[in-house]
This record gives sequence, C-alpha cells and structure tokens, in this order.
Amino acid sequence: MGDNPALTPGSLEAASLTTWTTQLSTLEARANEHGKFAQDLLSQVSTPLEYNMRKLDELRKSHADYQTKLVKERDSSYGDLKKLKGKYDTACQEVENRRKKAESSFEKSKAQSSYNQQLMEMNNIKNTYLIGINVTNKLKECYYHEYVPELLDSLQDLNETRVSKLNNIWLIAATLEANTLKRSSDHIAHLSAEIPRNIPALDSNMFVQHNAVQWQEPSNLVFEPSPVWLDSDNMMTDETSKIFLRNILQKSKPMINQLKADVTTKRRELENVKKLRQNIREGKDRRDEVDCVRSQFAVQEEVHAIDRKRLTAEVETSTILAVVGDLSMYGKSHTFKSETFKIPTNCDLCGDRIWGLSAKGFICTDCGFTCHSKCQMKVPADCPGEQTKDEKKKLKAERQAAASAAVEAPASNGVSSPPPLTRQDTMNSLSSGYAASATRSLSGTVPRAMTQDDTTPTTSSPLTSAPSNASSTPIGTARRNRIVAPPPAAYVSGSSAPASNGDSQPKAKMLYPYEAREAGEVTLSEGTEVKILEPDGKTNILDRLLDANNL
Ligand SMILES: [Zn+2]
Ligand SMILES: [Zn+2]
Repeated sequence: MGDNPALTPGSLEAASLTTWTTQLSTLEARANEHGKFAQDLLSQVSTPLEYNMRKLDELRKSHADYQTKLVKERDSSYGDLKKLKGKYDTACQEVENRRKKAESSFEKSKAQSSYNQQLMEMNNIKNTYLIGINVTNKLKECYYHEYVPELLDSLQDLNETRVSKLNNIWLIAATLEANTLKRSSDHIAHLSAEIPRNIPALDSNMFVQHNAVQWQEPSNLVFEPSPVWLDSDNMMTDETSKIFLRNILQKSKPMINQLKADVTTKRRELENVKKLRQNIREGKDRRDEVDCVRSQFAVQEEVHAIDRKRLTAEVETSTILAVVGDLSMYGKSHTFKSETFKIPTNCDLCGDRIWGLSAKGFICTDCGFTCHSKCQMKVPADCPGEQTKDEKKKLKAERQAAASAAVEAPASNGVSSPPPLTRQDTMNSLSSGYAASATRSLSGTVPRAMTQDDTTPTTSSPLTSAPSNASSTPIGTARRNRIVAPPPAAYVSGSSAPASNGDSQPKAKMLYPYEAREAGEVTLSEGTEVKILEPDGKTNILDRLLDANNL
C-alpha cells in the first residue's frame, strides 16, 4: 500500500503481499518436511540399522563359537586315536620284551605263557587301535563334509539375511526421501499456481485505492491589471492595435499546417518507438528496454516542443481572429526583407531616422516601404504591389508626410485616445513578447470573471476618461470604457495646489473632467480643486477625493 497510505489497508491486502506470504509459508512447509524426513530417518532407518547390526553380530559370534567347538571335538578324537596308537606301541614293546624274556628264561613255560598272554593282549589293543582309526576317520569325514559345510551354509545364510535386511532399510530410506520430495514439490506446485493469481493491474488498483488524494487542477491564469494602470482584460481593438494583431496573424496562421504535419510525423515516430517497447516487453525483440524508453522520452520531448509551437500558433490565430475577423478582407501585406541601411533612411511608419551602427530595419521588396525592426509589426497590410523607381520615390514622400502628421496628431487614424494611452505603449509590450509567447494570446481568450473591480464604479469611474470611440471599434461595442488611471502618487504630488487657505490638508486638482453616472458620484470639471481627506497609496484615493468634495 505504500509507505503512507491515505486509507488503512484493513482486511484487504495487496495481492503482492499475499503472494509473498504464500512464498514464506511454502518455505516453512518445506522446512517442516525436511524436519520430518530427518525424524523418520532416525526412527525408521538409523535405529533399525543399529539393532540389526547388533543382532547379526551376535549370530556371527555364535557361529564362531560353534566352529571352535567343532575343532575341539575333531582334535579330541585325533587325540584319542593317538592314545590308542601309543597303547598299541606300548603293547608291541611289551610283547617284544616278553618274547626276549621267554628266549632267555630258565622257566620256559611260565615265560612262554606270559608272552602268549601279552601277544593276545597286543592283538586286542591293535584291533582297538584299528577300530579307533576307522572311527576317527569317520568323524573326520563328518567334520569336513558335514559339520563345516553346514556351518558355512549357515554363515552364508546369515550374510544373505543381513543383505536382505539392509536392502529393506535402504528401501525405506528411499521411500521416505521420495515422499518428502513429493510433498515438497506439491508445495512448490501450489506456490507456482498462486503466483500468477497476483494480477499486476489489481496490484496497481489496490495501491491507487489506498493512496488516492484530493487533487485539484490549478485554476486558469487571468489578466492582472497593473497596480498603477487599471485596465480590463479586453483585447485592444482599435485600428492600430488591429494592424499589429493582423501582422501576428499573418505570421502565425501559415505556420499551423506545417506544424501540424510535423507533429503528425513525429507522433508516428513515437508510435513506432512505443510499438518497439511493447515488442521488447513481449519478448519479441531482444533490444534493451532502457535504451528504448530513453529514446521514447527523447521523441516525446520533440513532439511536445513542436506541439507547443502548433498550439501557440493555433491559439494565437483563434484569439486574434476573434478580435479582427477574417484576414481575407484585408489588404496585401508588404514583402519585407531584413536590410541594413547604408544611407540615412527614415522609417515610413513612425517617421524617425533608422539609427544605429548597423541601422538594421526592413524594406518591402515590392513597394520599397522601409521601417524600423521595432515598427515592422505595426505596419498595416496596404502594399500597393510592385512599383517603379519613380513611384517608390513618390510613395516615400507621401509616407513620410503621413508619418509626421501622425506624430503631430496621434488620433488621426480615427482612434481618439488620450495621450497616456497611445497604442505605442500597448504595442511595445505586445511586440516584445511576440516571438514565442503563448501566454499572451491565451490570456486574451480567457474572459476575466466579474470581480468587484468590474462592478463597482468607485475604484475606477472618477478618472475614467470616456471618449466614445465606438465608431472605430465595431467589434468592441460591448466593451467597457477603458480605465485611464495615471499613477496616483504622481497625480497627488504633481497637482496638489498650494495651501491657499492655510489648511493643512493637501489639495488636488482634477486632471480630467468626470461626469457622475451613478448615485454617490459627483460631476467634476477639469481643474476643479479638491481636498484630500486621507492620503492613499493606490486607487482608493479617488473615493476619498469624492468624499471630500461632497463635504
Ligand atoms: Zn519606425
Ligand atoms: Zn509593399
């Protein structure tokens, strides 16, 4: 939900978090599986192994013991036979002894009898010995052909039992491991099925839901009157201003189509880059996405730059068209080209010399109209077309005469306006911003909301010079009279009359006549003296002037 969600997450959690929790519990489950596996190995493999090892070893030992017994048995029978052989040898010796005795004895019969007895005894012993040999041989045969093979068979059997038991235990171990792996892979399979359920779009939605903040678009910019020059937000529509506006229009309007075409081309380029990025994201293109995004933004920047120019030209055009109407009604524009005047030349518009080290200005290639660079935008579109040298000379003289006449009577073009409001001022401010100022044009299209300044006459009416110039402004019939407010400070200090009656209150003189139009106002003629009750920095001084007069 982010670090500082605007809403408490509550029971709903981001799907990513849930997925992560699933991963953690999967890991835990797998760890448990491993623990269980270890336990099972101990109880079902290790312990039985130990037990069987002990048991089998006991069995092996009893076989060894038995073998020892068998050998002992065999050896004792050999020993018995040896004894019989010894007895026999002794008996033979005794026979020999008695035979020798009988040969040398004086009592022949007694010795002979003893010899005979011993001979019989020896025969018996010999027979016993022979029987013993047979018995021992039989026992030996048993030992080698019966007892030892039996023992070996039993040992072999024991070994096979051992191997079989070991196999069983090994099988158990393998089964245990297989089951553990199976359950682990089940956990992983479950996790793998859970991860795709974390749909990226839902994740974003969840974040958005919990982080929505109150948002408001900044309000449109509006015309702000100068603190010393009260004015409305109406476009100036007297003829001189219109000339200037038309000249702007003539430059802006033709640019629109080219700019539109440029924007379209650039946008197509942008679309291609976006498509490439999409392909990269879908894995169809191996190029680097970071590079792609970088170039996307670069192209976007270019699109914006051109589109800003287009928008500026369009708004400029529509704003001006609303004021001056269709351009086709007007005359032919001069074909100006930039020119550096080498001989002293006067401006055909203002009449002044085109000064300066380089004396740069403009000249019409058709009719020879020359003007200051600063005057170019004020020249009306009234080119008479291509002229001969003589005609140009004549035109120049006429234009210079008209220019000087205009300087002497600024209102000669039919616009009667008081000196502080010569169009020059307005135009200078406009021309300075001509090059790339969209704001200027935009502010013209936005009608200012009715504020107190518009409705209350008190702030503006006393010094309103209302020369009716409706004739020269057919489009602007509905507009209010312009407010002509010279800087009040200058007004007060410059015109305050000397204190003729010794009153300490400052006095002032009306610069312009004023006619009362509403209740609470008073009609004053030019030059009327008024008392200033309270000095004031700005416009409200006018109210006070009135109040003072009423008193
Ligand atoms: Zn000029
Ligand atoms: Zn011309």
